[in-house]
Amino acid sequence: MDRINELVELLNKYNYEYYALDNPSVSDAEYDRLMQELIVLEEKYPEFKREDSPTQRVGGMVISEFNKVTHNVPMLSLGNVFNAEEVEEFDNRIRKVIDNPEYVCELKIDGLAVTVEYKNGLLYQAATRGDGTVGEDITHNVKTISSIPLKLTSPEDIVIRGEIFMSKKSFETLNAKREYEGLSLFQNPRNAAAGSVRQLDSKITASRNLDNFMYHYPLTPFKTHYESLEHIKKLGFKVNPNTKLCKNIEEVKKFIEYWTNERPNLPYEIDGIVIKLNDIEGQRELGFTAKVPKWATAYKFPPKEVLTKVKDIIFTVGRTGNITPNAVLEPVKVAGSTISRATLHNEDYVIKKDIRVGDYVYIRKAGDVIPEVVSVERSRRDNTTEFKMIDKCPICGTLLLKKEGIVDIFCPNDNCPARNIEGLIHFVERDAMNIDGLGERIIEDFYNMGYIKTFKDIYYLKDKKEELMELEGFGNKSVNKLLESIENSKSNSLERVIYALGITGIGAKTAKILCKKYKTMDELMNASFEDLVSIYDIGEILANNIISFFKDENNIKEINELRSLGINMKYLGKEIIKNDLITDKVFVITGSFGEIKRDQIKDKIESMGGRTSESVSKKTDVVIVGENPGSKYDKAIEYNINIWKEKEMKENLNL
Ligand code: NAD
Repeated sequence: MDRINELVELLNKYNYEYYALDNPSVSDAEYDRLMQELIVLEEKYPEFKREDSPTQRVGGMVISEFNKVTHNVPMLSLGNVFNAEEVEEFDNRIRKVIDNPEYVCELKIDGLAVTVEYKNGLLYQAATRGDGTVGEDITHNVKTISSIPLKLTSPEDIVIRGEIFMSKKSFETLNAKREYEGLSLFQNPRNAAAGSVRQLDSKITASRNLDNFMYHYPLTPFKTHYESLEHIKKLGFKVNPNTKLCKNIEEVKKFIEYWTNERPNLPYEIDGIVIKLNDIEGQRELGFTAKVPKWATAYKFPPKEVLTKVKDIIFTVGRTGNITPNAVLEPVKVAGSTISRATLHNEDYVIKKDIRVGDYVYIRKAGDVIPEVVSVERSRRDNTTEFKMIDKCPICGTLLLKKEGIVDIFCPNDNCPARNIEGLIHFVERDAMNIDGLGERIIEDFYNMGYIKTFKDIYYLKDKKEELMELEGFGNKSVNKLLESIENSKSNSLERVIYALGITGIGAKTAKILCKKYKTMDELMNASFEDLVSIYDIGEILANNIISFFKDENNIKEINELRSLGINMKYLGKEIIKNDLITDKVFVITGSFGEIKRDQIKDKIESMGGRTSESVSKKTDVVIVGENPGSKYDKAIEYNINIWKEKEMKENLNL
């Protein structure tokens, strides 16, 4: 059977990329889809099942660079279920053997499995899962992970299993640093954790801020899995605090539902929920297949990335005239909503990813709001049309231009209706003037009906109250609410006004930074180029944008009109308490500080006009070093940067 052969070859290749190279070329969702297809085909045509089929084996492999470790109890994978029905089927299978089964539900941490052996309470050996029978010896690296104890609270001989992972934050910091250093980026925290553990030099592992949760005691003497976890905790291991003992499958389903929603709020990635039979004797009775235990399964969350077809590529015009290519998609459900459009960002992005009309692409919600195209599924490319950028504005027909240093090509026509509408939409946004009741559609309609052409017109809407109430979809209540929201926006702090004006490159954060220095609109309007670039976060391009924005007569007129309408032009934020050691200095924090949380330290620094950064560079003034510092400490020494240990930090920051 050709398709079976094809799938086996393909999945084995993907396994190699994923487990040996830590560099997958397809998404987990695509891998899971192909695996399900193979499972179904093998069930239907068992005579074609191949010896080397990935459905038979635990996925990983052993690299010769590391010493081999044979597992005394095999380290298996987990079976998968993908919906409530399959969760119930799992329960039915268990109940054929066990009466009234209780389950332990655990978060399925997206990292890599580790087995650790202790002799007389001391860490003796740590290994990866490898192919399930033989793993790689990673003891030297595991010793650098501070949540894995080197010594247990009692001198036991014990083997424990769990997951090594990298938090979302450490992952972002690591990739930001790699980007800065021109190195290739890790695709996700799982690949980053796996790549970090499988290093020959444990100093590299130590710098990666890895963490761990333990979840399995293979040869437990306890009666239940839950008791085993309690014991592991007492020995000094970290057990995930969200683990729950469920009395029946209904409670399991509730747990799944809860974490499906809460998942984005966790500081680490999870890709599902593991459901384990609590009773150990029952576990032994049920036993294993060659690849997975029969007493446990993993519920996998629906993929964040979904595959669909690009039907067309169209272009939209942003408020600064920037032209954005967008993919028109065959509608698909992503994280609960149906998506038929996704941003392609800019010309460079489309060309780099070689996205074409007719391609199958993975889409996801970027920052959980705007959907974006992540990658192309090349294996499905068939009949496609190569992408070509337009050269005229799709709305007003003006010839498009390219500015130096900016990736977007843009429409230079200040009166382009598309630009004006986008500018108005931006003006009322939540982070800008925060005006409720003026959605995109309404702005477009009001613009076309001539009610609002510029920002100031929004504040004159109150004079048209009667007229507005006549419009379809508007009543007394909604018009009053809208006018009240418009009125309230007049007392916004200055940073909102600056952001709302839509100066190219000035986001909400930068607007705030500007306001901390220039307390009023006038002060900002009079700022010189030299003065602006002396601010840490403002580069030459941004400074030029600001200067040229405030030089433009139309903008000055608009600002003056807004002022005369009663819009506040002062910064209302907290006053900075100046301090010679801290104000205008750049700080980097590494390591932990007992009771004191990093955010507390950051807040304190910012309240005194200092700035914090995630990576050490020559611009860093002080590196604050706590317990178990990372590579930032080494860098501080290398660059000869001022170092504050915990005691000094407490004194200087008054903490
Ligand atoms: P798995 O990730 O589906 O499940 C088993 C693993 O879950 C365990 O080995 C353990 O590491 C982990 N785990 C996390 N929390 C746990 C807990 N509380 N209790 C028990 N285990 C827990 O199986 P797998 O064999 O490691 O990997 C298969 C999956 O990996 C595939 O379904 C696919 O999503 C992905 N994969 C992707 C590619 C690719 O190319 N993108 C290739 C191979 C595998």
